[in-house]
Amino acid sequence: MKILVCISHVPDTTSKINFTENDSKFDSNGVQYVINPYDEFALTRAMWFKEKQGASVTVVNVGNASTEPTLRKALAIGADDAIRVNTEATDGLSVAKELAEVVKNGGYDLVLAGKESIDYNGGMVPGMLATLLDFNFVNACIGLEVDGDKATIAREIDGGKETLSCNLPLVIAGQKGMVEEKDLRIPNMRGIMMARKKPLNVVAPVGANAVTTTVSFEKPAAKAACKLVDAEHVEELIDLLHNEAKVI
Ligand SMILES: Cc1cc2nc3c(=O)[nH]c(=O)nc-3n(C[C@H](O)[C@H](O)[C@H](O)COP(=O)(O)OP(=O)(O)OC[C@H]3O[C@@H](n4cnc5c(N)ncnc54)[C@H](O)[C@@H]3O)c2cc1C
Repeated sequence: MKILVCISHVPDTTSKINFTENDSKFDSNGVQYVINPYDEFALTRAMWFKEKQGASVTVVNVGNASTEPTLRKALAIGADDAIRVNTEATDGLSVAKELAEVVKNGGYDLVLAGKESIDYNGGMVPGMLATLLDFNFVNACIGLEVDGDKATIAREIDGGKETLSCNLPLVIAGQKGMVEEKDLRIPNMRGIMMARKKPLNVVAPVGANAVTTTVSFEKPAAKAACKLVDAEHVEELIDLLHNEAKVI
């Protein structure tokens, strides 16, 4: 089985977010980047298939050269090789079109992505990719087994879980639950050394044009100060909820 894992390069969740150019550009100064957490679940599941069932695992990012340390981290975790499509990734459809070309050229059976990137939160790339390829697609996956060309997938639904089956080729948008959090891998020294020698192929984009442009970004309003009311003073709490918060 040939597996392709799509890796989005996103700011660490502890990053301070700022904007420049009249709030229309993200300021990447001082920002640490990581593998998108949902992609880490997908990559860990891919490693399981490689080790238990025999599969090759390629990781791919659509982005400029600054994303290479993130791809090297995926190689250190255990992927066999990496592909970087050398273009500025600025919208979901153009990213999906670039990824579709990689899938066609590489003949992958199973494409694993995250259900959304935690920076732009579009949640659109995997579905668009499956449509462009005419592959089956399952979103919000929390469990995946593959036997031959048949996949059994668990997905989260409101208040429960659905199990379904479908054939490869398949695109999966995964999330927490695809593997246990304790099974996520931190690259060790051997993995980091080996990753330096693994192929990271930079390929030219097909030139898919972005169809959206960012007009502006806005941060959420600062949270109001928190008032603590002693458990003994219920009347004070009711008064505050009634006259100040005006919620009762
Ligand atoms: C000016 C600008 C520059 C940017 N530069 C980069 C960059 O260099 N590298 C980068 O990764 N992002 C970059 N981004 C973010 C880029 O916009 C997103 O990758 C893309 O728009 C998809 O975002 P989304 O929120 O719709 O993805 P979603 O649909 O929420 O992502 C779902 C899943 O799709 C896959 N995926 C998403 N984006 C990519 C990608 N670029 N490559 C491979 N798999 C992907 C991942 O598995 C992800 O978990 C940039 C954005 C802007 C505005």
